[in-house]
Amino acid sequence: MEELHQRVCLVHYHEIGLKGRNRSVFEKRLVKNVEALLGAFPVVTIHRISGRLCVFMKEGASREAALEAADTIRYVPGVARVSCGFKCERDLVEMGQVAINALGECGEFQTFKVHARRNHTDFATDSMEMNRIIGSDLCAAYPDKTVKMKDPDVTVTVEVVQNAAYIYARSTRGIGGLPVGSSGRIVSLLSSGIDSPVALWKLARRGAVCIGVHFSGRPQTSDESEYLVDDIARVLERTGCIARVYVVPFGDYQKEIALSAPPSLRVILYRRLMFKVAQEIAAIEGAGALVTGESLGQVASQTLDNIRATDDAVELPVFRPLIGTDKLEIIDEAQRLGTFEISSQDAPDCCTLFMPRNPETHAKLDDVRTAESAFPIDRWISELVDAAEIHDYACPPYHPRRR
Ligand code: ATP
Ligand code: MG
Repeated sequence: MEELHQRVCLVHYHEIGLKGRNRSVFEKRLVKNVEALLGAFPVVTIHRISGRLCVFMKEGASREAALEAADTIRYVPGVARVSCGFKCERDLVEMGQVAINALGECGEFQTFKVHARRNHTDFATDSMEMNRIIGSDLCAAYPDKTVKMKDPDVTVTVEVVQNAAYIYARSTRGIGGLPVGSSGRIVSLLSSGIDSPVALWKLARRGAVCIGVHFSGRPQTSDESEYLVDDIARVLERTGCIARVYVVPFGDYQKEIALSAPPSLRVILYRRLMFKVAQEIAAIEGAGALVTGESLGQVASQTLDNIRATDDAVELPVFRPLIGTDKLEIIDEAQRLGTFEISSQDAPDCCTLFMPRNPETHAKLDDVRTAESAFPIDRWISELVDAAEIHDYACPPYHPRRR
């Protein structure tokens, strides 16, 4: 019975609805992103219908396939909510049947209500009347369940549009934000730690295409951290937000710095060099900002003075979306994002290499610049960029620039 009706996922967005004349650009971006991420699912097409997207599943697509598709969609930036249901004729008897199916599929519940609306008055029955008719069909089909107007366990939504009706009961919140590709590009300094993937994700959710840069301790350490970063990138890739990761073998340069710079300034000098390399990669990629996972006071390099001393190394704006976030909150976010387990594994990267016993917590800019001037920084930047290995990930809006 139920297989007679086409399964659909309705994708709701609110913020892009507010974008005035840009609205259709945002919607098209979202359609393309969702389409690309659903490549492996039995989907026929995606349409825009009255302020939302409708993903049409292939004939005979299973409930599981629709649920999995919905689960992919909800993590796509720009999606406020995704609902699984059916498309049917604008016929009240058929709509009642489909509502019964939709409610039957949505798992455990005790209370429910119907929320019907018509987008065109060319459908003769108004929403109050539809609520009543479909409500009584549902009461007859589920006699042990109760109608509850305020906070029911399930809402069966019935939307009548120009030439069809859409009916769904199962609805889950999306992650919100803006479609990736609607806010330009950023370069994110990506360690294998807990914080930086969360920081990247914050900008991704605001619509930025993200390019990662990872500084590996190689050849002074193993390449373990590179595998962790690749695992992290694959988690992020499910949402279509990460285009590439540049892996930069940094160990020998750290060693050079460690051999002759004042020990207390080493960390700042490493970090300035990382920022400069990241800025060069940003220039190649056409990215407008750098992003780090720093949080004020979390470690010695994250004091105000030291943040200033590293920012001084570059011209691009440096975003630190976690600056006011506590570690426990960051951990919660990493868990929701799905990177926490990976980031919790220990791997030596350049952070653990050649660390001084007493790092400076209040670096003076002049001292830092003087110490840095002893090194051939410009040559190092181009050597490091040339030595970078590029790993590509699926990011629908991304096209590499020609070099
Ligand atoms: P994370 O959990 O992101 O590793 P952290 O708490 O360990 O952060 P730091 O080691 O001081 O803090 O690093 C601060 C930020 O600098 C990181 O969030 C990241 O953006 C960047 N960073 C640090 N190490 C690396 C690295 N090896 N490669 C790329 N970026 C790095
Ligand atoms: Mg770290």
